[in-house]
Parts: sequence; structure tokens; C-alpha cells
Amino acid sequence: MENLHPYIPGEQPKDRVYIKLNANENPYPPCKEVIKGIKKFVNSNPMKLTVYPDPDSNELHKAIADMLNETGGVLCNAQVKGKKCEPKSNDKIPFTVTPDMIYTGNGSDEVLSFVFYAFFDSNTKLVLPEFTYSFYPVYAGFYDIETDIVPMKSDWSLDVEEMLSRAKKNGSGLIFANPNAPSGISLSRVQVKQMLDSFDKDKVFVVDEAYCDFGVESCIPLLKDYKNLVIVRTFSKSLCSAGMRLGYIVANPELVQQITTVKNSLNHFPIDAVAQTAGKIACQNAWYYAECAKKVVEQRESFEKFLQDKGWEFVSSKTNFVLARNLKIPGAEVYKKIKEQGILVRHFSTKGIEDYVRITIGTAEQMNALKKAIETIGE
Ligand SMILES: *Cc1c(COP(=O)(O)O)cnc(C)c1O
Repeated sequence: MENLHPYIPGEQPKDRVYIKLNANENPYPPCKEVIKGIKKFVNSNPMKLTVYPDPDSNELHKAIADMLNETGGVLCNAQVKGKKCEPKSNDKIPFTVTPDMIYTGNGSDEVLSFVFYAFFDSNTKLVLPEFTYSFYPVYAGFYDIETDIVPMKSDWSLDVEEMLSRAKKNGSGLIFANPNAPSGISLSRVQVKQMLDSFDKDKVFVVDEAYCDFGVESCIPLLKDYKNLVIVRTFSKSLCSAGMRLGYIVANPELVQQITTVKNSLNHFPIDAVAQTAGKIACQNAWYYAECAKKVVEQRESFEKFLQDKGWEFVSSKTNFVLARNLKIPGAEVYKKIKEQGILVRHFSTKGIEDYVRITIGTAEQMNALKKAIETIGE
């Protein structure tokens, strides 16, 4: 038990209605078709809830594969034409993603847990960036995997050379988020390809693309040439479904098979039948989520301009959040003052990042309220 350091999620208060800009959730509702589909599923045949769901989630896996082919895996860039999308030319996947390349789980957090179990060896030290998704060290502790922490570069970017050289020395796999959390900085696909070129082909290389839909090049096109690449994605951010708990892997079928074996050794059944249905319909309406992602990007750009005008320091982001700090007021104080005005942002007390707050990008109205709150706390 002494190795367990559970993840602490962003607060979900019940005492007061806050504007929630603290957990990187999407500020928009799921599309109407999803709501209709859930109602129909329950009303038309309640007996579907009494029987076990499809253990292979076939329809959902097909819908995810189709959505990736339709959008290129970067929703904010996809061109919306009626109720269909087309990928931007740079995002177009140069092969067809097939359902056997998809694995789904109960949120990408559960998916990541199986990734750690299946692919990272407790006899080798796992290389992690100093600031990364804070669940990675939690899983490492749970699975008794020692970690080797690589400091960030001074501009918050990943020290790629150092990560690679330590992974080589340790003989370990690799995992990082692209774009990274909580910095919001990303690597280009070419940079990831270069990493893969100098990485051991027998070790698994994991890219967590939780925020990719908000403007980063996806690494899905690299799956064609790199059989050791695993891409983890989620419905929680860009697909407006954090409450649904749906995460997935895109990888070559052999690795998908290995993860499935791990999962089936623990919990034979997949995500529930309602989530399978809702997830499928969401994927079939990628156009709607592309429009949501475009609105988030627009608000992010406007908010970064605002921060710049107000003299705040921030890390330019490709996600649905911005890591920012006021040069005169400590992060904990900023968090408190914004909260007093009915808005929640996230503050981490971790050393090195304690001066900052992480702010999720909301709707135009929410961001206007936040801008007002920020103006009252000083510049
Ligand atoms: C939010 C987040 C996840 C977890 O997503 P869920 O699917 O909600 O479990 C995974 N990785 C990163 C980097 C995230 O920010």
C-alpha cells in the first residue's frame, strides 16, 4: 500500500454552482443525436439493459475507426460539409484505420492502466517527463514500476534527447502526452517519427493524444510503419463525454490483442451497452464535435491574447486549457480569488508549477466571466 499515491481529480463541488474551468471538460453538450439515441435505446427495448453488452464492442470500434478516417483525428481542423467532415490534407491518414486497430475501455484512465500493466516492465525504470499527466506516476506506483524523471527544458518543452537516451539505457518503454499536460506544448509528427526511429523496436512507445483534437498533428499516420506505437485517446475532452467514461487505443492489431487479453483477465465485459451506443452515435456525428472544437480553439486564442494584454505569463497551448501565471500573485491566491467569484480553475501545489493555474477553455460566456474575474484581481 505504501506505493499507492492515488490521483486527485479536479474538484466537482456540489455546494454551489460554479463555472467549471478546472477539469478540462468540454463546455458543450453532446450532440442531439446522442441524447435521442440514448432515450431510444432505453425506451425501445429495456430488455437490452438486462443482458450483457457486446463483449467486443464491434459497432463502437467500427464507428471510432470511421470517425478517425473521416476527420484525420484532429477535429478542430476538419472541414465540415453538412453533416460530414473531411480531414485537412495534412491530417489525412494514408491508410484505412480498421476496427481491429481499436480497443475501448472505461475512460482512457482505465485504458492507460492496462497499457502500464501490459507494456511496461517492473524490472526496468520507466522514463517520465517531470511534468506530465499526473496519473502516469500513480500507475507506475500501483504496478511497482520504478520511474526515471527527466526535467523539462526551460520553455516547458520535453527534453526529447534525454528521454530517449535514458529509455535506451534503461531498456524501457516510453509514454508521454502530446500535446503535453499540463503545459499544453506539443511535438510535431515529424519529431515523434524521429523519436520512434531512434527507439528500440521491441519496446512499446505510447503517445497519449487526449487533447489532439484541439490542434496537434496526430501520430495515427505513423502506425503504418511503427508496429510498437500505441496511441491513447478519449471521449472526455473533444467528444463532450467525460461522464460517459470512454477511452480508446489506436494501434496495430497485435498490440490491441495483447491489451484485450489483459483486460479479459480482469474484467471480461467491456464498457456498458448505453455507453457503447452513445459513443457510436457521437462518432457518427463528428461534424458536431468538430464545430465544438473550433469554438474552443477560437476562445483559447482570444483568451491568450487577453492574458498577454494583462501581462500574465502563459504557455502557448494546443489544447483546451492554458497554463498561466500572474507575475505578482501566487498561484494558490489566484485560484482562491477566482473561486470567490464563482469560477473554478485548477491549481497544483507541485513544486515548479505552484505559481501557475491551469484554466480550461469554456464557452464565450464563461470566458467573458473569467476575464472579468481576472480583471478584478489585479494585473
Ligand atoms: C483527461 C486525460 C486523460 C483521461 O481521460 P479519461 O478518458 O477521462 O479517463 C488521459 N490522459 C490525459 C493526458 C488527460 O489529460
